[in-house]
Amino acid sequence: MGITVTIRTNSGVNTEPEIKTLEPILKVENVWKLYHAGKVEVPALRGVNLDVLPGEAVAVMGPSGCGKSSLLYVIGGLAKASRGKVLVDGNDLVSMTDGERTKLRRHKIGFVFQRFNLLPALSAKGNIAIAQYIHGDGFDPHRFEVVTKMLGLVGRLNHRPSEMSGGEQQRVAIARAIINEPKILLADEPTGNLDTKNSEIVLDMLRRLNKDLGQTIVMITHNPEATTYFDRVVHMRDGVIVDGIPAD
Ligand code: ADP
Ligand code: MG
Repeated sequence: MGITVTIRTNSGVNTEPEIKTLEPILKVENVWKLYHAGKVEVPALRGVNLDVLPGEAVAVMGPSGCGKSSLLYVIGGLAKASRGKVLVDGNDLVSMTDGERTKLRRHKIGFVFQRFNLLPALSAKGNIAIAQYIHGDGFDPHRFEVVTKMLGLVGRLNHRPSEMSGGEQQRVAIARAIINEPKILLADEPTGNLDTKNSEIVLDMLRRLNKDLGQTIVMITHNPEATTYFDRVVHMRDGVIVDGIPAD
């Protein structure tokens, strides 16, 4: 079932607003994730529901240990939900084999992590371009130029990660994550290792990717500033999203 939204086109003053039905690009339905630590079962997610529309930017906040990373990994196919449905662009990740999930992740998801995770032996250019080769379509110079310009990396492309600041490394990681035009960009505390100034730069770039390129983003953050950059903030606690749930 889609969500009806009113889209105001700016093609003319007398134009009636267009009514369109947008299908969520991401649908999380009653998702559970149980970890087994010895004999103990740890329920990291306990029935999460979340819909994200194409072009939305959603920030996920909540205390440490409440299940934010588990949710992101399940959405991105890095981990398999124990129960429930995770629909990415209509494909249910929970019913897939590991191989199918990896393939879907490669084509539809981009990931950004707190610790950048760049390959130290490669230049910035190499770190970004390798994602295009792994994706399978080879180097696309036009997309490379658009992405590196937008992220302010043009003068840094021949540098290795050790020769770049944390903020620059994270921008390379973002470029790598979006170079293949993923349906969804997932970011797990992308400013967690950055100082205030670089955090602002990275958040601003994520906001511009969303506003200017229409990139759908789900980002975990502890940064209260993030709420001013993103359309929507959801709060998690003890393995569930608590927005809209009355306090006991
Ligand atoms: P957050 O990102 O909000 O800090 P996590 O999703 O990392 O939360 O963790 C949620 C809960 O699941 C925590 O209690 C954590 O200890 C537990 N957990 C996470 N990963 C594992 C794992 N691989 N094995 C066992 N327990 C885990
Ligand atoms: Mg986490």
